[in-house]
Amino acid sequence: MSYERETIRRLAGYAPGEQPDGLDAVKLNTNENPYPPAPAVMEALTRIAPEQLRRYPSPTSAGFRHEAARLHGVDPAQIVATNGGDELLRLAVTTFVEPGRPIGVAEPSYSLYPVLAAVQGSPVLRAPLDERWRPEADFARCMNRGGVSLTLLVNPHAPSGVLLGADDIADIASALDGVLLVDEAYVDFVDPQRGHDVVSLVHEFDNLLILRTLSKGYSLAGLRLGYGIGSRGVIEPIATKTRDSYSVDVVAETLAVAALRQRDAAAETWAAVRRERARLARALSDLGLSVEPSETNFLLAKVPRNAKLDARELYLRFKQRQIFVRYFDQDRLRDRLRITLGMSDQNDALINAMGELLG
Ligand SMILES: *Cc1c(COP(=O)(O)O)cnc(C)c1O
Repeated sequence: MSYERETIRRLAGYAPGEQPDGLDAVKLNTNENPYPPAPAVMEALTRIAPEQLRRYPSPTSAGFRHEAARLHGVDPAQIVATNGGDELLRLAVTTFVEPGRPIGVAEPSYSLYPVLAAVQGSPVLRAPLDERWRPEADFARCMNRGGVSLTLLVNPHAPSGVLLGADDIADIASALDGVLLVDEAYVDFVDPQRGHDVVSLVHEFDNLLILRTLSKGYSLAGLRLGYGIGSRGVIEPIATKTRDSYSVDVVAETLAVAALRQRDAAAETWAAVRRERARLARALSDLGLSVEPSETNFLLAKVPRNAKLDARELYLRFKQRQIFVRYFDQDRLRDRLRITLGMSDQNDALINAMGELLG
């Protein structure tokens, strides 16, 4: 006997990357930051008082909203804190999409999006990205024609790592009838010399909702803290109606405030990731793979057709060697591997194994 709703029963669920138990595994498959969280974050953890745990946390995560607002130059009313970025995605669906109405997604992208749509009982309107992993010129028109009230766009793009400029985001936001959620899970790793800034667009476009997370940039994937930045019009219904009052616990909020205050420490890890990114991209190219120009903490590498092993075989052979990378058995990705940047010795292990397997 199954008690699930029909839509849930049909649903396969989100398939997360493997989390191997062995500490000696080289884990380059779920895009965590390889460097530890800032020392100030660990100190804040030791200072959590029993009284803080006894009481409920701030129902609006007021301390975090204040800190994030200061960082981004917006009002605290333009910030909402959530239980990881994934909760913000779910809340955006709950808040802006009538059940059964379509959700707009660029293909390929984060595999959680279609799962959230299915839970809502909503179809997904998929707009294929072009050769360079960028939305086509008629992207917004296509969403409007399909009656889409929420479009999810990950930028920098996952799984390619390619960055779309703020001008392009502005064009899409201004052309869309509905809400544009720009998922900036990886934005911290963008080269600062590019001057990339989408946050300032929230003053101009009231339908823009930006997702941020401390999981990747701040090495806090285990903590579960994400947040949204947008106009009051998109933030308020989430912050005051659809969000659970206590979805962000007091430990997460306290540590997240410490993390934002110690942003410089995190920024050092971002620079280290960028250095490793350039080094690994060169090494993979030297081995005959083609690598997309990534502004994230991962690389999407295409295995040449004439290679000894194809991408799937490589993924399996790496796994035998306790090196975990991500393989997606889907259109446009079957001949590629998504490799998270690790510490330099982990990246060396990957380069050496790749050389042995393909050499
Ligand atoms: C990691 C990630 C998120 C959010 O992750 P959380 O750990 O829930 O904050 C959102 N979008 C994409 C594309 C991601 O890779």
